[in-house]
Amino acid sequence: MAKEKLLIGAHMSISGGVFNALLCGQELECTTIQIFTKNNNQWKAKELFPEDVKKFFENQKTTGISPVVGHNGYLINLASPKDNVYDQSKESMLVELKRAELLGLPYLVMHPGSHLGKGEKEGIKKIVRSIDWLHQKTKGFKVKILLETTAGQGSAIGHRFEHLAEIIERVKDNERLGVCYDTCHTFAAGYDIRTKKAYQATFKEFDNSIGLNRLGVIHVNDSLKDLGSRVDRHQHIGEGKIGLEGFRLLMNDKRWEKIPKILETPKGEGAARDIKNLNLLKSLVKWSKSACRDSKNGSLRS
Ligand code: MN
Ligand code: MN
Ligand code: ZN
Repeated sequence: MAKEKLLIGAHMSISGGVFNALLCGQELECTTIQIFTKNNNQWKAKELFPEDVKKFFENQKTTGISPVVGHNGYLINLASPKDNVYDQSKESMLVELKRAELLGLPYLVMHPGSHLGKGEKEGIKKIVRSIDWLHQKTKGFKVKILLETTAGQGSAIGHRFEHLAEIIERVKDNERLGVCYDTCHTFAAGYDIRTKKAYQATFKEFDNSIGLNRLGVIHVNDSLKDLGSRVDRHQHIGEGKIGLEGFRLLMNDKRWEKIPKILETPKGEGAARDIKNLNLLKSLVKWSKSACRDSKNGSLRS
């Protein structure tokens, strides 16, 4: 793996404006970041002014951070059996897609939704119907929705690869759909990556069920809770139940070279913990000879 190609970063706050996230990302030496497109725990969205968008593009140019991945808000539930929540979720997701498109984000990561007791079949039906509606409303948009793998906490859909595969298969314009693989969520859902054998089996299963070509983003988080616990609690890299070997395998997997790898570990101590986690992940990478730069540009000319 060549060092300059390493696509790694962390989820960054947009407080003070979306454009700030890029500057914070640069401080942490991120080559990619993830942001919320709006306040993540309110329905209401602060207006996104042309000036904000302009500053965002300027900062993206100066920092070179690319891509910036979007993540949707936590209130959105496209599987909700409650009509008012379902309708509001669709409208809010539409707003987020528009904002993501304005900012040129290639992906908007979305939690598929929770059926709240109505069953997976009913939940998946609602998700498919709402994504079709969203696609109708956003014809010609470049931004793609990425369905995130979930831990399966409560009635969350997406803790089996088959759930996501079924949604993709049933959505009409499914060229516009991909998947975000969260290492904490999948582990809590029962997919092991702690040994080479387990790691290979898990991604083989992912490939068979969903297809590796659908993988758009990887969320790199250790898990506080055990394999199959179905509890979603992120932990710092190497300090959870997955442990370093799983992340070593992930970081050295050439198949993910062009896939953004994003940390979503606890922020408690501010940037310091992000930097520590990022450095730890980078230290796991076995650099290939091609990482020795300057063979062309830096060599002495005689
Ligand atoms: Mn998420
Ligand atoms: Mn995640
Ligand atoms: Zn999580």
